[in-house]
Amino acid sequence: MALRNIREMGDSVLNKVSREVKEITPKIRELVEDMYDTMYEAQGVGLAAPQVGVLKRIVVVDISPEGNQPITLINPVIVEESGSQTGDEGCLSVPNKCGVVTRPEHVKVKAFDIDMNEFEMEADGLLARAFCHEIDHLDGHLYVELVEGDLKVLTEEE
Ligand code: ZN
Repeated sequence: MALRNIREMGDSVLNKVSREVKEITPKIRELVEDMYDTMYEAQGVGLAAPQVGVLKRIVVVDISPEGNQPITLINPVIVEESGSQTGDEGCLSVPNKCGVVTRPEHVKVKAFDIDMNEFEMEADGLLARAFCHEIDHLDGHLYVELVEGDLKVLTEEE
């Protein structure tokens, strides 16, 4: 298990556009494993490679409470979206804060898995929100750009 340092808002790497992954190398596999370790340790539901300082189009997501439904997205693209949901969102790169963001209720994502097999996946609710949030990171965008109203500060109990 290897934890990587999570970059925080203000670090310019978070505002850059990530590059597509051309092939899966041992280094990429190690990066993805470390991203899961880092995300689970930080109790997040998603992490994008730029958040650990690597400008590659790689996202890991797991919204299950048990942390046993990992989804790896390489070069993900949202190909369909519909509906809308408005709710609180947070980010491991913006610690102890949250804010209200409106996202599509439903998305269809096209991506490659860790063996570079292309797949499509439909998602609703929290999973759709997580996909949109993480894919935004790959284009250098943070959710704080979309927050309606003020960014809220979380207290210990929250
Ligand atoms: Zn984030």
